[in-house]
Amino acid sequence: CEAGSKGTKAVDANMKYKDPKLPVEDRITDLLSRMTLEEKVGQMTQIEVPVATPEIMEKYFIGSLLTGGGTQPVKDASAKDWVDMINKFQKGSLKTRLGIPMIYGIDAVHGHNNVINATIFPHNVNLGVTRQVDPALVKKIGEATAVEVRATGIPYAFAPCIAVCRDPRWGRCYESYSEDHKIVEEMTDIVNGLQGDLPPNYPKDYPFIGGKDKVAGCAKHYIGDGCTVKGINENNTIIDMKDLMSMLMPAYDLSVQKGVATVMISYSSINGVKMHANKKLIDLLKEKFKGFAISDWQGIDRITYPPDANYTYSVQASILAGLDMIMVPDNYTDFIGNLTKLVNDKVIPMSRIDDAVTRILRVKFLTGLFENPNPDYSMVDMIGTKEHRELAREAVRKSLVLLKNGKTESEPILPLPKKTKKIIVLGSHADNLGYQCGGWTVEWQGYSGNDRTSGTTILKAITNTVDPSTQIQFSEKADPEFLKANKDADFAIVVVGEKPYAETKGDNLNLTIPHPSQEVIKKSCASGIKCVVILISGRPLVIEPFLPAMDAFVAAFLPGSEGQGVADLLFGDFGFTGKLARTWFKRVDQLPMNFGDKNYDPLFPFGFGLETKKGDGQGEL
Ligand code: BGC
Repeated sequence: CEAGSKGTKAVDANMKYKDPKLPVEDRITDLLSRMTLEEKVGQMTQIEVPVATPEIMEKYFIGSLLTGGGTQPVKDASAKDWVDMINKFQKGSLKTRLGIPMIYGIDAVHGHNNVINATIFPHNVNLGVTRQVDPALVKKIGEATAVEVRATGIPYAFAPCIAVCRDPRWGRCYESYSEDHKIVEEMTDIVNGLQGDLPPNYPKDYPFIGGKDKVAGCAKHYIGDGCTVKGINENNTIIDMKDLMSMLMPAYDLSVQKGVATVMISYSSINGVKMHANKKLIDLLKEKFKGFAISDWQGIDRITYPPDANYTYSVQASILAGLDMIMVPDNYTDFIGNLTKLVNDKVIPMSRIDDAVTRILRVKFLTGLFENPNPDYSMVDMIGTKEHRELAREAVRKSLVLLKNGKTESEPILPLPKKTKKIIVLGSHADNLGYQCGGWTVEWQGYSGNDRTSGTTILKAITNTVDPSTQIQFSEKADPEFLKANKDADFAIVVVGEKPYAETKGDNLNLTIPHPSQEVIKKSCASGIKCVVILISGRPLVIEPFLPAMDAFVAAFLPGSEGQGVADLLFGDFGFTGKLARTWFKRVDQLPMNFGDKNYDPLFPFGFGLETKKGDGQGEL
C-alpha cells in the first residue's frame, strides 16, 4: 500500500522493516504486509547460477541462489570473483520494489570445498572418528569453514549432513559422521561453529546467526537418508515411528536447539512416502523449529505418485506438506506459475505462503542481509589460511584409525623411523590430492590429480617428514621391475583406495577394493619388504582377504587437503588415537550390520583402533 509513496522521507521512516533497531519479528510482520503474492512466491524460489541473471532476480523477485555441484563464477574462481558474482546478482534483487536481498547458498560440506585453495577438511566419516578423542574439534572446523565461506561473500552453507549412515553401500556414507546416532547427535556442535554460540536463554526453536564471520547452516537431509534399503541413494527407509523418534530425530532436535537456520528435506522416502510430500513428518519438525525447510535439488520433481502425478502435483504436495523454499533450480517459471495459480485457485491457502515467507525473511534478517547485502573483499585473505590448514592437519591426525600394527602384536612396525636407507611409496592415491579429498571437492564428483587446488599429498608429506638422507622412490603401480630395483627398501607405504564419487554414483553393492588397488597391495606386500597399507575410502571396504599379508593397515578415509597429518602419524610425531565410528564388516552379505545388532560379527568392531605413542619410531633403523 505504501508502494506508491515510496521515496518520500516520511514514508521511508515508516518502513519499519528497514529499521535494524526494531525486533526481527516486527520487521517481518511489516515487510510481509507489504508483499504481493508475486513477491512472496519469488522469495520461496531458489534457482541455480547457470540460469540466473540480475534481470531475472529482479523480474521474478527470486529469493535465493545456489551453487550446486561445483558451478563456479568462472573456472577456478578466486575469492574476489565469488564476491563480485554475488554482488552482481544481489544488485538485481535490491532493485526490486521492496529491495529484499537474496540469500546465496552453497555446499560447504568439508570446508569451503567448491572454492580453489580453500582448506579442505576431512569428510564427516573422518570427523566421527575424532569425536572420541577431541569433542571440541568439530566446532572449530565449523568456525573455520564459516570464515572461508563468508570470505567469498556467501552467507549460507548446506551443512551439516546429520545422516546416520547404517549401510556403507550408500554413496553418501562419507557425508555421515557415524552409524551411531549418538555420535551424530554430538557432532551437531558444528552448528554452533558455523553459526555462533547462542546467547544465554535463547529460545530453543529460533535460528541464530552470530555475526559477519558466521553463516546460516542447514541440517540435512530430513529424515532417514542414511537408512534406505541396501543403502541405495534416495531410496525408501523402512522404520517404525518409535525408532525414527529415538534414532533419527534427536540429531534434528539438537540442531534446532543449537539454532540451526534451515533444514533440507531428503530425497528419500519413509515407509513409502516421499519426504518432499511428507506432511506428517515435516509438521513434526516445524512445530519446534522457526527457521525454514528447503527442498533438495529438484527434490519436488521426484515426487512421482500418484501415477498421473505431474509438476503441478509436485508443487502442490510439497508446499502443502510444509516446504518453505524450493531448490527449483532451473525451471523457475514453471514453479512460479504453478505456485501462483495454486494459491489463486485456493488450493494452497495464503496462510501457508505467509508461513513460508515469514521463515525465509526471518533467516535473512538474522543473517544481517538487510543491513549488509553486499559482501566486500575484506575477508578474501581468509581462504586456506595457515591456521585453518593447521586445524585440518590436526583433524587428519585425529581421524585416522590404525587397524593393524605388525604381523604379531609384539612386533609393531608403526611409527616408522624417519631415518632409514630407503622407503618406497606405491599406489594411485599416494600423490593425488583429488583422490585424497574425495567427492564434493572443486567438482561435485571430486577430481583426480594435483592441479586444481592446493594442499599436501601423502607422498609429499612423507618426503617432508623423513630425514633428508632417507631415499624415497615412488611408483603408482607395483611393477615387478620397480619392486626388484628397490628390494633393498626398508618399508613400502602403499596408498590405495576408492576414486572420488558423490551421491548416487557412489552407490556400490559389492564394496570391493578397486582391482588396480588390489594388485598393488598384493604385489607390494608379497615383495618381502615390510608393507604399510593406507586405505583412502569413503567407507569400510572388503579388506579381509588382503589383511594377513600386510604388516600394518591404516584406514585414512577421506583426509582432505592436509596430507601432512598422515605423515605426522606414520613417523611418530603424533600418536594414533582414532577409534572407528563405523563397523568394519568382513563381507557384504553381512550388511547392513551395525554396532548393537544381534548377529554382530565384524572384522573390526565399532570403537576399535590401535594406539601408538608419540615419538616411538624416531630412532634410526
Ligand atoms: C544434494 C544436497 C545438496 C544439493 C545442492 C543435492 O543433490 O542431495 O545435499 O545440498 O544437491 O547442491
